[in-house]
Amino acid sequence: MQLHPQRIRAGSRLFLAYALASLVPVLVLGLLLGQGYRREALDRGLAQGRSQAEVIEEMAVAPALGAHDLRDGLTKAETTQLQSATDLAIFSGSVVRLRLRSFTGQVIFSDDGSTANALPSDHIAFRTAANGGTDITVLEHGDGRSDLIRVLQPIIPNASGEATGVLELYLPYAAISAQVQTGLHGTYWRLVAGLAGLYLALALISWSATRRLRRHAAQRDYAALHDSLTGLPNREWFRMQAERAAGGPSGGQHGAIVLIDLDHFKEVNDTLGHHAGDVLLRIVGERLIESLRTDDTVCRLGGDEFGLVLPGLTGPTEAMELLRRVRDELSEDIALESVKLSIEASFGVALYPAHGTDVEVLLQKADMAMYQGKRGTSAIVVYESGTAPEKTQWLVLQGELRRALERDELLLHYQPKIDLRTGLTCGVEALLRWQHPQRGLLPPGDFLPAVEQSGLIQPVTAWVLRRALDDHAAWTARGASWRVSVNVSARNLEAPEFPEQVSRLLLATGTPAEQMCLEVTETALAGDAAVAARAIAALADRGIEVSIDDFGMGYTSLSQLRTLPVTEVKIDREFVRGLDGSEQDRSLVRSVIELVHGLGYTATAEGVETAATARWLAAASCDAAQGFYFAVPAPWQDLLTHHTAGTPPVALVTSRP
Ligand code: C2E
Ligand code: CA
Ligand code: CA
Repeated sequence: MQLHPQRIRAGSRLFLAYALASLVPVLVLGLLLGQGYRREALDRGLAQGRSQAEVIEEMAVAPALGAHDLRDGLTKAETTQLQSATDLAIFSGSVVRLRLRSFTGQVIFSDDGSTANALPSDHIAFRTAANGGTDITVLEHGDGRSDLIRVLQPIIPNASGEATGVLELYLPYAAISAQVQTGLHGTYWRLVAGLAGLYLALALISWSATRRLRRHAAQRDYAALHDSLTGLPNREWFRMQAERAAGGPSGGQHGAIVLIDLDHFKEVNDTLGHHAGDVLLRIVGERLIESLRTDDTVCRLGGDEFGLVLPGLTGPTEAMELLRRVRDELSEDIALESVKLSIEASFGVALYPAHGTDVEVLLQKADMAMYQGKRGTSAIVVYESGTAPEKTQWLVLQGELRRALERDELLLHYQPKIDLRTGLTCGVEALLRWQHPQRGLLPPGDFLPAVEQSGLIQPVTAWVLRRALDDHAAWTARGASWRVSVNVSARNLEAPEFPEQVSRLLLATGTPAEQMCLEVTETALAGDAAVAARAIAALADRGIEVSIDDFGMGYTSLSQLRTLPVTEVKIDREFVRGLDGSEQDRSLVRSVIELVHGLGYTATAEGVETAATARWLAAASCDAAQGFYFAVPAPWQDLLTHHTAGTPPVALVTSRP
């Protein structure tokens, strides 16, 4: 699986964003918890100070004092006992300073005998104690002197149970804080470890999530750019590759864009089944990869079409050399469903920069070269400027035609078909015209070849059939009893749904099947005979008659003609034209008419331009004829006024010439 570098970069960025985003709440949580712990530690320190002070008051101070107000001073015995108790406490380090104060603030006793630095009596802490409360504060000096806990609380001698003064006590904070700090440190470490674990878990989750996302996206990328059947890159990828190779910023590079179309693939699909077709396509993909160089690109463009990007080829000779090797390897025999066959294909080559650097242009040229190969004898064709200049217009034409269909610019002219025995119009042939907005009324020769090379032939034929049947209904309603003949191309016969489509149209317009005839050129039969024969049989099954058009041009074997369920053969106008002058053409046409009759079909001559030809054909028992001599193709309304009158348009001699 190929991963895009951008995709990987985007994935890492996403993960980083996740990681940072989860770091923020973790840090905030840590800060809040840390602060909570600190406050709790301080509270613990204060509580410890308070209980220590209580112990000192109860054990050392209160027992030494009588129940009198401290304002009255201390007795000598009291002072001595206090002094010895405080000396002991100070010596043991549990007290730093101890003062007894009267409610008015007067220092009654001080462990060191001095009254300096006593807390002013209007201090809030002193007032709290004087009123019976306890004030306890940590004094942080931060200047090298050790921190203290200051406690102010009432003195309640044991005897009375009533406050007699205020005890001002300073305790060392270092020991308490150290004890608290050790507890705090442990908690901090646990907190840090817990948060780090949490963060790690979050990061892990986000990492695995981004990885899964990335893999998912890569799979999607892969599917979007690859063909599921062969595993080859698809058209999209081909375009990108071609663009990079031919039009990339590193201009001045040489190479080739190649389009490959398999020959007879449809036959394989139809006769051996779709599974065999799939196997064949896979084999083609493998063989192409094997026979090409490592930095060449092989893509499946769809159906039986493949595309190659071949960098580094400097000219047509080099390209031909490489592709001949590819073709040889491709055409090695394979066995499919135990049928041995060889894969043949047409290659169209466009070279960059010689034929352009724009991928669109290169593809068009490769396409033209490929079609030229399909019709000619060479399987590999390198585009040559000027080989088929009109085809450069094809793509433009195809685009215009698509619009023409939408804008209703197509129309049908009809050419009468004359019954040579009666001289009356027995049918009409629909001939397509395009009312081009700039170029005027175009005959089919100007645009049909382009249509036949594109998928447009299906909608165009559908349009022609529909219009012809609608027109048939219209002239029938006005009293004319003409059958209608419609030309269809070989491409229509290839579409398996075509016979059914025609049936449905007949039904939709209420036209009896025998009122219509489809004309198929003889060359269409020569192309993919089996496919055409099957289509003709399917049409015949539905009661739709088929006529062989332009007979004599395509070298259809007589035996083939015999097997087809057709009803009419139209003799090509090339032979009809020579009837007046060439004895050879006369004998040829005579034998064709006999052959056609022998097979039980009717013979129609096309391109009758003179009265002499018409007479000769009638005498030769040709059944029907068409041509400018009788009428030029025109809108059916025009024909109605000229060709329904009872008098035949020409006096025909019916005796044999
Ligand atoms: P086609 O089927 O052989 O049609 C007869 C062509 O010969 C018509 O040309 C007609 O105008 C021309 N023609 C008729 N009488 C004479 C004559 O006395 N002398 C000469 N020199 N020509 C005559 P058009 O209309 O240009 O059509 C050309 C071809 O285009 C048709 O040949 C037919 O194969 C194809 N075509 C026409 N309409 C359609 C269509 O709707 N679908 C398909 N697939 N092909 C069509
Ligand atoms: Ca025709
Ligand atoms: Ca014809």
